[in-house]
Amino acid sequence: MDGVFIGGCRLNECNYVTQGNYHALNMVLLCRKIMEHIGLNPSRLRIEFMSSGDGIKFAEAVNDFEKNIEVLGPLGSGEGLDKEELSPRLEQIYRLIPYIKMEKKEKLRVRHEQGSNYADFFTTDEIDSLFNDIVSYYIDPEKCQACMICLRKCYVDAIQGGKDLIHIINQERCIRCGNCFDACPEKFSAVQELSGVSVPTSIPEGERKVVRKNKKAESKSISAE
Ligand code: SF4
Ligand code: SF4
Repeated sequence: MDGVFIGGCRLNECNYVTQGNYHALNMVLLCRKIMEHIGLNPSRLRIEFMSSGDGIKFAEAVNDFEKNIEVLGPLGSGEGLDKEELSPRLEQIYRLIPYIKMEKKEKLRVRHEQGSNYADFFTTDEIDSLFNDIVSYYIDPEKCQACMICLRKCYVDAIQGGKDLIHIINQERCIRCGNCFDACPEKFSAVQELSGVSVPTSIPEGERKVVRKNKKAESKSISAE
């Protein structure tokens, strides 16, 4: 899409206690900042609030939006980005949506009655650090005991493993939800949360046979004898 226009009911006039139009506003403000971060013009995404009686306002807003999009031109090329540059950026954001929503969940719930409070709701620095400090998850092969709990908790099939096999995370598939980190039993603590460092390479497939902790201890005591 070269542009997206969202029309919502007037703020404070939502029929539902959830006040979904505030949530939509927060989401749009976040998306606009992310668009800026990847080099897209944020005015390609607009939200306006109006009632069903605001026909003229609606028509004017849509006409104005359409004119702006015409001036901006097609998505990407209008910003001087070719398809090869834009596609991986969009792909990265797409994969990180669950992570971004989780990281910003408190803020996405905020409801300011004063429009002025939204001026700098999400800042450029905040969005830069959201992407720069992004976390990765890694399974320590020395600690993994192949209990398979993390594998069952990963909803995008990013964890490869099996009975008696050290589990590994496919970084390309991982959406950084952190479920595996929370799920790995404390006595193993095999899942690590990494930030600002590169993720170690996974051990090769033929070397994934798990060595049980008690077996390790046994073989150590035998060799000591
Ligand atoms: S963080 Fe863990 S559970 Fe979440 S997607 Fe990545 S591997 Fe799967
Ligand atoms: S939950 Fe922990 S110990 Fe169990 S398979 Fe996953 S990483 Fe290994």
